[in-house]
Amino acid sequence: MSECLLALGSNLGERAATLDSAVAMLDALEGVRVVRHSAWQMTLPVGGEHLERQFLNGAAVVETTREPGDLLSLLQQIEASHGRERLERWADRTLDLDLLLYDDHIVESPKLTLPHPRMSYRRFVLEPAAEIAGDWVHPTIGWTLAELVGQLDSGADRLAIVSP
Ligand code: ATP
Ligand code: CA
Ligand code: CA
Repeated sequence: MSECLLALGSNLGERAATLDSAVAMLDALEGVRVVRHSAWQMTLPVGGEHLERQFLNGAAVVETTREPGDLLSLLQQIEASHGRERLERWADRTLDLDLLLYDDHIVESPKLTLPHPRMSYRRFVLEPAAEIAGDWVHPTIGWTLAELVGQLDSGADRLAIVSP
């Protein structure tokens, strides 16, 4: 059994209902159990004054017997079932499910990078993640998620360049 951390986001449609439904669909998958999830947090899109397109973000801890690539395919199926269209990267979306951490696995493949390469500097990812998994040590940076959020809060002007 492996333990995973997922990020959930939505900025179109009934956002809270979409995230609730995604959690229920995850939990219903064979070999997947949602252990806990964060509160859903509002986040303003970077540079945007479009309140109607505010993001709702959250995180979930999941136990699974599925392999990482298999789990990612399942996440993409759940996105698709909520009407997610893959038009362009970072476009508005009904549902985005990212695999942030899978145990302490480090993966670099065309379809899957673990840990998720942009998790460590995104407040909208780290805050909900730290709420439910603050003690989880990021496998390449070596800091806990709580420490990574603290780093954002400290405002220290530092850039960490990390490679496996
Ligand atoms: P970002 O990755 O910056 O959060 P995004 O979520 O908008 O952007 P998507 O369009 O959802 O990006 O995904 C682009 C591709 O990223 C997917 O086709 C998927 O194969 C790949 N990918 C690589 N690693 C991961 C991961 N850890 N979790 C989710 N997708 C990943
Ligand atoms: Ca994403
Ligand atoms: Ca994604």
